[in-house]
Amino acid sequence: MSRLLIATSNNHKLGEYAQLLALPQLTLISLRDIGVAADAPEDGETFHANSRQKAQYYTQKSGLPTLADDSGIAVDALNGAPGVYSARYGTDDLDDTGRRRLLLANVNACGDVPRTAHFMCVITVVFPDGREFVSTGRCDGVIANQEAGEGGFGYDPIFFLPERGCTIAQLSAAQKNEISHRSQAVQGIKAILQRLFMTI
Ligand code: IMP
Repeated sequence: MSRLLIATSNNHKLGEYAQLLALPQLTLISLRDIGVAADAPEDGETFHANSRQKAQYYTQKSGLPTLADDSGIAVDALNGAPGVYSARYGTDDLDDTGRRRLLLANVNACGDVPRTAHFMCVITVVFPDGREFVSTGRCDGVIANQEAGEGGFGYDPIFFLPERGCTIAQLSAAQKNEISHRSQAVQGIKAILQRLFMTI
């Protein structure tokens, strides 16, 4: 059985990866499982740069093939903000709820403009021998007028999917996995990992 480190300290993301990346020949390991602190630098200007930085950092620390992602929400009316700063939007004291409220207020303050937005996820897998593999996913929607739903995490309660008539937070975990940016990026990387780990 081969091991793959999933380099995130976000339990929601870990849960989504456990569901999305199940492969018979692969055991998924978390940072907590191997006692590695989640202290990677994350100062890139693109989702790809950040996911690569994190994957390289933790593969060096752990000696394991490592998957890291970087994801976030980009709002057209805010010129793509918060983008790579999604987890750090606003002031340091804000939690997910505070950041979501701030984003909603900032979009509302733009007035009568299109509220289109998208989630992006870039996954990078780095092997200890230096091989790197990348996969990208995107999910399009609009910023809702108000929060709705209890599921998911982060900005899900304000991310409205016109074709489903609800926010992502109103979907079940399985329904979110059908359409999410992360699940699309995982499908791409899963195909690559399947080939790589089958030949080990
Ligand atoms: P990361 O851990 O640096 O990738 O942080 C991404 C941030 O973007 C998270 O803290 C969330 O605020 C937001 N985000 C990423 N993916 C999702 C999602 O699936 N739903 C809601 N918010 C998300």
